[in-house]
Amino acid sequence: MKQLEHLQEVDVFQKIGGHEQVVFCNDPKAGLRAIIAIHNTTLGPALGGTRMYPYSSVDAALDDVLRLSEGMTAKCAMSDVDFGGGKAVIIGDPKKDKTPAMFRAFGQFVDSLNGRFYTGTDMGTTMNDFIDAAKETNFINGLPEAFGGSGDTSIPTAQGIIYALKATNQFLFQTSALEGKVYALQGLGKVGRKIALHLLEAGAEVYVTDINESVISEFLEEANTFQSAVHVVSPLEIYQVNADVFMPCAMGGVMNESTIQMLNVKAVVGSANNQLAHETDAELLYEKGILYAPDYIVNAGGLIQVADEQYGANKKRVLQKTKSIYQMILQLYAEAQANRITTVEAANRKYARRLEEQRNRNNFYSRNRRPKWDIN
Ligand code: NAD
Repeated sequence: MKQLEHLQEVDVFQKIGGHEQVVFCNDPKAGLRAIIAIHNTTLGPALGGTRMYPYSSVDAALDDVLRLSEGMTAKCAMSDVDFGGGKAVIIGDPKKDKTPAMFRAFGQFVDSLNGRFYTGTDMGTTMNDFIDAAKETNFINGLPEAFGGSGDTSIPTAQGIIYALKATNQFLFQTSALEGKVYALQGLGKVGRKIALHLLEAGAEVYVTDINESVISEFLEEANTFQSAVHVVSPLEIYQVNADVFMPCAMGGVMNESTIQMLNVKAVVGSANNQLAHETDAELLYEKGILYAPDYIVNAGGLIQVADEQYGANKKRVLQKTKSIYQMILQLYAEAQANRITTVEAANRKYARRLEEQRNRNNFYSRNRRPKWDIN
């Protein structure tokens, strides 16, 4: 029995791998079961949204939060913000299990980390949920503007994707113009809809899909004046469209062996997190001659906005920083091409360099860096 306990202990630590800290949050009275994962705080306190999802098991929730928090370290490093990678998941169905008490309880757990972890919305959670959490802690970002936050992150996220798209066109076609090109866009949610409308306004042809019929109808109403350039296809057909760029703006993990085989495009640029089912799928794209814009670089607009809240929300500054995605992605394409490596490999090398630079910097003790309430 003793031996078995020992084995289980080792397994948990093996699973959390390179993560710094994993916190299980349990408040039965508030119906809260959540996990906060802090991957790496070399660059600053961990930052990452909180996802609510009806996970089939605690193991599945743990896998998801570990994977997502590691992705946030890469995203923060590449966007040059002084935050590290973290993420949280709440186990439950966002359609029926949410209560204000649950989010207040979650806020208390976030507060107990004393600023090692900042969080806000993600899939399954809304700004309103975090108004409740913010009653218990100051470490919440992305609140509505009326509550002192920077508001809707899908706006800078969509802007960042447009800059990445322009850079991709520049690299492939020697012109950054969006017009005259064909795009296949998956997912007409907050981000996808904004991108699709922008592309239509710019004079592009856009194939769209969504699993939600009402979302498509709402989009078509908005896109009324560009009807001739919009084509609605089924969720499966979107992979087969003969287009210049495929744009995954729905779920993660959509690029795998079978979908990549179907693709008939020159590039992939989209907002979804963790688009590749496996990192090796980057090689499949490379072998097929499809240029891939790493998701954690191009979809960083929202992160840039919430990270900017530490200086007081400023839309101009956020836009300026989001614009830098254009140069960053163009340089990355050139680097990958020169070294004959995938863009994912080039991006991973770059982010590892940024962490290393920070580790090597003089990181001496400064009393002023301690929280005010700790100075006596
Ligand atoms: P959203 O929930 O508003 O929209 C997602 C849309 O995708 C929905 O309309 C949904 O019906 C549709 N969808 C789901 N599965 C689909 C499928 N298999 N085929 C076609 N459509 C499908 O989400 P969002 O805020 O627009 O974000 C889109 C993606 O971008 C997500 O992966 C998100 O994690 C990522 N992202 C968003 C932000 C942000 O600021 N909102 C920032 C970074 C990354």
